Amino acid sequence: MHLDRVVSAVAPGSGLAFAAVVATRSVAEMRDRHDSSPTATAAMGRLLAASALFGISLAPREWVTLRISGDGALGTLGADCRLLDEETLGARGYAAHPLADLPPNALGKADVAGIVGSGTLHVTKSYAIGQPYNGVVPLTSGEIAEDVAFYLANSEQIPSVVALGVLMGPEGVRAAGGLMAQVLPGADPGAVDRLEERARSLRPIARSIAEGTDAWGLLALLAGEETLRSKHELALRFACPCTLERVERALVGLGEETLAEIAASGESTEAFCDFCRERYVIEASAIARLVSER
Ligand SMILES: [Zn+2]
Repeated sequence: MHLDRVVSAVAPGSGLAFAAVVATRSVAEMRDRHDSSPTATAAMGRLLAASALFGISLAPREWVTLRISGDGALGTLGADCRLLDEETLGARGYAAHPLADLPPNALGKADVAGIVGSGTLHVTKSYAIGQPYNGVVPLTSGEIAEDVAFYLANSEQIPSVVALGVLMGPEGVRAAGGLMAQVLPGADPGAVDRLEERARSLRPIARSIAEGTDAWGLLALLAGEETLRSKHELALRFACPCTLERVERALVGLGEETLAEIAASGESTEAFCDFCRERYVIEASAIARLVSER
């Protein structure tokens, strides 16, 4: 199995930009951590792959968050992405109710639109300096790829093709990834026609990944014969920036009375990060310190 990679390139002569990601291992780790159902994994994995497609253009200390507030059984789901070092992106995916599941839809595919429901897609881009950029659009399909494309066209005025896919097998996540093409201002109309033609004949990309296509191979599915420049490649892995200190701070939300009770019991407390399910053990002495700090 290929290591997870995110790649991007520009076709300056045509005015098109491309990004592709193979995210199989990251989505498998997300699934294992959250024990998410097959349908939940498909939804969360598609959003994680989308965050990586946005993430390839991040600078150090910037991050991007995609959050879907839907009225389906999955509840709010999110994914975010940041640079871990010069060569690696870290992404995570999570949902309010990852155990929720639905039977396959009429096409025999994971019913992502059903489990997401109707609602909104929020995108936040946080920069090292200055205010974050916030965009929000209503969900158009709930299948996520169409929603991300709708966001790009309407909130950022960038006509785009977006494909996202997670393929599940009996053993778990078999393949996951994403592919995106953006039409830049002043693009060659002939090149845009050819892009649309390639987009129409695109096979489900998780199948291509399962058959061994790597991130550059995926990108070529939409880039065709375009001459590519500014090629960029990063490794991708599941990563959450949680720390014991952050989890302790979240515990403060339990309220002073509850904290005092835990501290008085003298027993250590288990806490989990909501975003990655990492387990933290907090000693009673640390709880007592939290109480005294208040
Ligand atoms: Zn975490």
